[in-house]
Amino acid sequence: MLACLRKCAQTLPLIKIIANPLSASSPDIKQTFDYIIIGAGTAGCVLAARLSENPDNSVCLIEAGGPENHPYISIPAGVGAAIMNPKMGWGLNTVPQTALHNRQVPLPRGRVLGGSGSINGMAYYRGTAMDYDDWAQQGNPGWAYADLLPYFLRSEHNPEYQDSPYHNTDGPMGVSFIPKPNRLCKDFNSAMSDLGFQQCHDFNVAYPEGYGYRQGTIFNGKRVSTASAYLRPAMQRNNLTVMTETLTRRVLFNGKQVTGVEVSQGNEISQYQAVKEIIVSGGAYHSPHILLNSGVGDAKHLNEVGVPVIHDLPGVGRNLHDHPASFVAMDMNDSTSYALSWKALPRDIIQFLQYCFFRSGPMASNLFETNAYIRSLPNLDRPDMQIVFQPARRNIKPFPIPLGHGFAISVVCLYPKSRGKVLLANNDPLAAPVIDPELGTASEDIETLVRGLKLTREIFGKPAFTKYQARERMPGTAVMDDQALENYVRDTLATVHHPGSTCRMGNGAEDVVNHELKIHGLEGIRVVDASIYPRVPGANTNASVVAIAEKAADMILNIPAPEALIKLS
Ligand SMILES: Cc1cc2nc3c(=O)[nH]c(=O)nc-3n(C[C@H](O)[C@H](O)[C@H](O)COP(=O)(O)OP(=O)(O)OC[C@H]3O[C@@H](n4cnc5c(N)ncnc54)[C@H](O)[C@@H]3O)c2cc1C
Repeated sequence: MLACLRKCAQTLPLIKIIANPLSASSPDIKQTFDYIIIGAGTAGCVLAARLSENPDNSVCLIEAGGPENHPYISIPAGVGAAIMNPKMGWGLNTVPQTALHNRQVPLPRGRVLGGSGSINGMAYYRGTAMDYDDWAQQGNPGWAYADLLPYFLRSEHNPEYQDSPYHNTDGPMGVSFIPKPNRLCKDFNSAMSDLGFQQCHDFNVAYPEGYGYRQGTIFNGKRVSTASAYLRPAMQRNNLTVMTETLTRRVLFNGKQVTGVEVSQGNEISQYQAVKEIIVSGGAYHSPHILLNSGVGDAKHLNEVGVPVIHDLPGVGRNLHDHPASFVAMDMNDSTSYALSWKALPRDIIQFLQYCFFRSGPMASNLFETNAYIRSLPNLDRPDMQIVFQPARRNIKPFPIPLGHGFAISVVCLYPKSRGKVLLANNDPLAAPVIDPELGTASEDIETLVRGLKLTREIFGKPAFTKYQARERMPGTAVMDDQALENYVRDTLATVHHPGSTCRMGNGAEDVVNHELKIHGLEGIRVVDASIYPRVPGANTNASVVAIAEKAADMILNIPAPEALIKLS
């Protein structure tokens, strides 16, 4: 079966890897590049492609993981298996979370070309214009929605909205609707309509709100990541070197000027030099981790763990936040939902063959096909909650495919107030970061999720769903009053994997980069990834990271920014 899956998967060109040409035991400088990019994730792949467009620039992209050639990555329905596969991820967890009954919460992150974008849920959202306008108003010129929209457009290949000013067909990232959503999605939309919510026909306009079918970074039945859309085509270029299985230990300095990087390739330690810039794109957990290992961060913390201080910058690793979520899970006998079950086995086999031969059917889906962005309180200025409908049973124990029949809703708090941090465990650059997001420490986050659970019960109480005579497995009918629901939220709260703001952009005491994404007080180094968010946008985060990287590439290459678009309603 795996052989067949492999056949179905994208055929990938061989990766150009610089193997260690010398077997020196001392870390001498091995090679010099104009630009070194640390981390081939969502942002890093965009940067590598854009910076190497000019053949005069030599560009090196360094990635701790391997190539993204596993079928779990390219087949959209393989997403659960990709997230759970230890070979593609960092295996991170939070420290025990005091507000969550001391539970440790898993924090999946891609460790592979494409980074988290190679294992993510493929939902395509930008969020509301207000989020970006807030960034600009907080002292970051050039980061308002009108400034970023050209970069969202530049990245997008979305033929399903031909005449919309919010969409484009010329960019590299393929985006589409799931052609035939599961029947239960129609029921979700109908229940939302019964409750008086508006339908949203496009979640990527300036001010999206309501319920409806969602688009994904899926094209011709396959996942689209920045590795497949940007990096792979760019790898034909002689001026781009991609190093996989290469872990950046630290950035090297001469005073406050960055000079290169020190990396581990297997047991060997090497150094590479950058004459123009180093760009840190390790993601929201690892960018601060790399900087702290390099001696850039809170001097007190660095002294405690025994890392020599290069630059005292207290904001590195602080202000971590992510979208917290809880859920309602229903079980049912009817076999409409996506599932692996005896009842559905003949259908499952046909759908498997359908994917193998035509790259269509449920295996070409990320399984989350409809959802809603709503205001959970009437006085809010923007939707503060995402309601993610799953036309599949939520498994009791983690398993990559839904077992048995049912459906579920995850409610996501889009503007959490809890803030946490990323720290070093010790002075070993190979040690995992200590991640304490302090989930649920702000009571508002828990209250939002409790409101979401109550709304979910209303949704499942509508005729569109009651006809299935489904049973609520979680929270269950014993969990009814607010106190019990709060307790349930603290037992189940997880994140939906959108961490950010750990190298925050701005000019305040805890900000790490300026509006050009240059690290305050250092020369020749920028951070470009989800860690620079002044605040995490109220939406899934991949598209905004792509736009950030597109904009950063222009800034690095001194290409004037496209004219800001006038306000679009
Ligand atoms: C399970 C999951 C589901 C998600 N679902 C969605 C979704 O449906 N829609 C959406 O929009 N967003 C989703 N996201 C979020 C989105 O994918 C991320 O916001 C985005 O990928 C972040 O991009 P990045 O460039 O900041 O970091 P990443 O993509 O994580 O890239 C960081 C890269 O740096 C590498 N790296 C780190 N440290 C080092 C080092 N020391 N040396 C060398 N390399 C290093 C990593 O291996 C990785 O490849 C999801 C994320 C996850 C994990």
